[in-house]
Amino acid sequence: PYAAIGIEVNVDYITAVAVDLKGEQLLNWRRAFPGGTSSAGQAVAAVAAIAKRAVSRMTREARQVLGLTVAVPGLVDVNGTVRIAPNLGWRDADLGGDLMKALRDPGFPVLVDNDANLAALAECRFGPHGDVGDLVYVTGEVGVGAGVVMDGRLRRGGHGYSGEIGHVEVDPGGPECRCGRRGCLEAVAGIGAILARTAPGAPPAELAAEVDEVVRRAKRNDPEVLALLETVGRGLGKGVAIAANLLNPEVVVLGGYYVPLGPWLLGPAEDEMLRRSLAPGAGGCRLVVSTLGHRAAALGAAARVLDSVDSGRLPP
Ligand code: BGC
Ligand code: ZN
Repeated sequence: PYAAIGIEVNVDYITAVAVDLKGEQLLNWRRAFPGGTSSAGQAVAAVAAIAKRAVSRMTREARQVLGLTVAVPGLVDVNGTVRIAPNLGWRDADLGGDLMKALRDPGFPVLVDNDANLAALAECRFGPHGDVGDLVYVTGEVGVGAGVVMDGRLRRGGHGYSGEIGHVEVDPGGPECRCGRRGCLEAVAGIGAILARTAPGAPPAELAAEVDEVVRRAKRNDPEVLALLETVGRGLGKGVAIAANLLNPEVVVLGGYYVPLGPWLLGPAEDEMLRRSLAPGAGGCRLVVSTLGHRAAALGAAARVLDSVDSGRLPP
């Protein structure tokens, strides 16, 4: 039997999954990791260590590893180079090549891809939206990014950089973004923007716990947190409306930390989307939260390995 491995490295965590050819999960692992304050070299070392453990576990289970894809929160070109990862502070990082070296030529391909693109693949392959041809996945991390599926295919754009919705300006002159501009969607509605208000200065590896705390306060109807989530939801809705006007997707899936925050974000975001799209009822666009939770990008990374198998490249 075979296994495909997907690993996501993000600003505050690393997630690893492995799936078999049918998409059954063989491994599901997550750990806090201070990506936002680590160098590319430190991230390579951490991902390599996790990849080695995943590979030896698969080998112990007598499975052949078909490949590894690594999801990153940044712009990845068609050759797999991470050109810009604003919240990691990386530029032109050859993550795939460095991982190959760290893994000492593991005998399977190592690919690198954008986190939101991969999460969109996972939604189509493993989520409940398999029959949806036109879908936009919006990931709510410290950064915000989108994966665009049109006519049933992930659309990467001319050079692989499509879906950078997090850097669309939604608040002219608004808060500074890690990309160097102001008022970007992620500076308004990213998780960092929420935590800057509720837990200023929280180190990257503690963001998940801080989001849990925001959820607890929202459940207690803490007025300050409810007002904050309403504002963030409206900002998010502005971004979603741009996607709805431009692409007329059947569904926009909110992922990442937007999943636990969904009960408070969905209403205002949908309201804003409906107000700002020209087509009646936002062109029939449904706004939902992901059922894959925080594993979406890692699952999509494994799905990318399976895609190459689908196209007929199964090793002997
Ligand atoms: C990056 C995107 C990424 C998103 C979510 C943004 O800052 O520019 O490439 O998909 O964060 O991690
Ligand atoms: Zn930006």
